[in-house]
Amino acid sequence: MKNFIMAVVAGVFALTLQNCYGQSSSGQTKPADKAPEYSHTETAPVKKSNDDWQKVLSPEVYRVARLKGTERPFTSEYEHSKEIGTFYCAVCGNPLFKSDAKYESGCGWPSFFEPISKKSIVEAADNSLGMHRIEVMCGRCKSHLGHVFDDGPPPTGLRYCINGVVLDFEKAKTAEKKFNSKKKAESGS
Ligand SMILES: [Zn+2]
Repeated sequence: MKNFIMAVVAGVFALTLQNCYGQSSSGQTKPADKAPEYSHTETAPVKKSNDDWQKVLSPEVYRVARLKGTERPFTSEYEHSKEIGTFYCAVCGNPLFKSDAKYESGCGWPSFFEPISKKSIVEAADNSLGMHRIEVMCGRCKSHLGHVFDDGPPPTGLRYCINGVVLDFEKAKTAEKKFNSKKKAESGS
């Protein structure tokens, strides 16, 4: 009887292990809220219906990116971030802005004076809410990012006012290395 119980316990334990293992190795290398097309290097356009986007995006990303919503001002962790790296489209992974084109506009959203390239984004006239604005969308998946205004700093004079929720940030590895070695040198002297 004791042996039988031990066998049952061992069996349940093995099954549990198998389940855990099965889940963790199911090939989900991307976070659950990313589409299979998400990539930092792929440039082929991504076309999907909003119904399909809604299945993979978090409700807030979906609302801003696909329904042209706006995140609450002064809520983005990226607004005051001074880290060196690249900002990607949170929907498809397309590289959009470098941190060296980022500046503090005080408008309540992460602001940049230029995109990585002309192809990074697309622009369109937006006459909603009784205003004449220029909408900025991702050049790869056409997700709504924010608006561009002509009150930015030199050299472009432009202010790309972007919802932080539709941005993914990746710290530059070389910059991090340089920063750390500088810190080490400073603390050593
Ligand atoms: Zn995109």
